[in-house]
Amino acid sequence: MDDLPRDPFADDPDDPAEALGGFDDGEPLLTPAERDEAITDLADVEVFRSLLEPRGVRGLVLDCPECGEQHYFDWELLRGNLRQMIDKGQPQVHEPAFQPDPANYVTWEYARGYVDGVIDAEERH
Ligand SMILES: [Zn+2]
Repeated sequence: MDDLPRDPFADDPDDPAEALGGFDDGEPLLTPAERDEAITDLADVEVFRSLLEPRGVRGLVLDCPECGEQHYFDWELLRGNLRQMIDKGQPQVHEPAFQPDPANYVTWEYARGYVDGVIDAEERH
């Protein structure tokens, strides 16, 4: 167990993996590169959520690679999916939010641009 990378959220008291009882013994299905990408995405999602949720944004709308439609994911679902990919090596669950109001969701690009704008504004102070 000592060769596992350090959990970037090990100090997060809300870590949902704690409640799930840790790792099971399945073989990871993700490549290390995919896992790294999921870790980066999870960090982005946490930043997006911290800035956008107070403004009434409930999650992200993402293009689904399986069916080509857009699906709506709330923050908890995004976080849970990414945690599952990182902790268990399982790909994203095909489970969009139930009856979402599209007005409450933004694209990844919008969220990225919004966060970059906030960071720019803070750096000008
Ligand atoms: Zn789909």
